[in-house]
Amino acid sequence: MGADDPRRFIPRTDRLLSHPELRRAGAHLGSDVIGSIVQQFQALARSGEIAPEDVESRILAAVSSRQVTSLKSVLNATGVIVHTNLGRAPLSEASREALLTAAGYVDVELDLVDGTRSGRGVGAREALLRACPAAESALVVNNGAAALVLATTVLAGLGEVVISRGELVEIGAGFRLPDLIESTGARLREVGTTNRTHLRDYEAALGDRTGCLLKVHPSNFRISGFTAGVDVHQLRSLADEYNIPLVVDLGSGLLEPDQMLPDEPDVASALEAGADVVTVSGDKLLGGPQAGLLLGRAEVIETLARHPLARALRTDKLTLAALEATVSGPVTPVVAALHADPARLRERTEVLAEAVGCAVVEHDGRVGGGGGPDVPLPGWAAQLPQSVARPLRTGDPPVLPRVHDGACLVDLRCVPEDDDEQLIAAVLAALGRAGETPGTESR
Ligand SMILES: *Cc1c(COP(=O)(O)O)cnc(C)c1O
Repeated sequence: MGADDPRRFIPRTDRLLSHPELRRAGAHLGSDVIGSIVQQFQALARSGEIAPEDVESRILAAVSSRQVTSLKSVLNATGVIVHTNLGRAPLSEASREALLTAAGYVDVELDLVDGTRSGRGVGAREALLRACPAAESALVVNNGAAALVLATTVLAGLGEVVISRGELVEIGAGFRLPDLIESTGARLREVGTTNRTHLRDYEAALGDRTGCLLKVHPSNFRISGFTAGVDVHQLRSLADEYNIPLVVDLGSGLLEPDQMLPDEPDVASALEAGADVVTVSGDKLLGGPQAGLLLGRAEVIETLARHPLARALRTDKLTLAALEATVSGPVTPVVAALHADPARLRERTEVLAEAVGCAVVEHDGRVGGGGGPDVPLPGWAAQLPQSVARPLRTGDPPVLPRVHDGACLVDLRCVPEDDDEQLIAAVLAALGRAGETPGTESR
């Protein structure tokens, strides 16, 4: 490199790293992240893509916009409440606060009075039992699938899991419940047909090889027409007669009935109808963190909790904290979105439409996550050209709209009201009109 080579003027690594702003940023982003950003801009200067004198300012800009996680907060403008691709349930304020507390050392497995080891996750369990008094006991595992696998593996033992052919469902991303159950060595005994299963079908399958009865809520689809099924109450009488456990997998996680979703089964009703154990997800309609809940008879839950598999499926302290706060705290964002007042949604949507100059159309929201698949949630959306969807998704903050019938629909059901102004700014930016103050657009 000659004396007049501009690369000579690229700032040296040690000088850059000693910059007070980079030292401060390093304390929370980590020195590896800072080091790689420094190298990246030095390399750009070496290859002539940026001027050596710009290296420092470019590094400072990159560091200041760098987040601690690559996950980005997204405004969910789809109208789909439990959106699996967006991480299902947004947590309540109480739940977020609990996560911060649990991030440090916490007494998750310690009795502070005696200084001895205690049961894990007692707080979450007690909150669940207060919220669902029909359950004698509860156990929390990693997710709904884990809860189902634990219940069937342990209760069926070497025997068969007896299930209706109408309930052999695929739950998403290509995962099928039958495969899941058989993956730990349990064997399925399918009874009935896709559209009709009778009590006598179950009865004909019961015998020495029977391990447990399983009823699965088909969640994401409905069969209509010439159909017949056997309810939990009827299965209870068979379970008693043959002295076998009855497991009910409900998925979506309502602890009690919700009048918005009259066909969505709930834990309390299933237990009252005679289930020994009910399994649900924590991050569907319950509105909490990813978790699998097992609720039911004390003796059965105790057996499940003692099985070695329970240790492999156990939950993190963060989940236990967030779940407890979800169940015992105020209304969750999921429940609020489910019960959003259509008149208020319309007012908010009109403010948005007025600010950006577009039409308001009727738009049904959805429960999502397999809940209430055929239940429309009446509401409204701002209707934009389809070409706006991409700039919306890639904007800051990213907004996920619903693209439907050649239009880009912005539904406010799942957008916290406090974020409305931010959303309007994001839509204006996506339309190439960033900086316009709401209400001053030319039409
Ligand atoms: C969603 C669902 C599951 C799986 O629960 P995850 O929490 O996603 O693991 C199992 N059974 C039913 C009926 C479901 O709807």
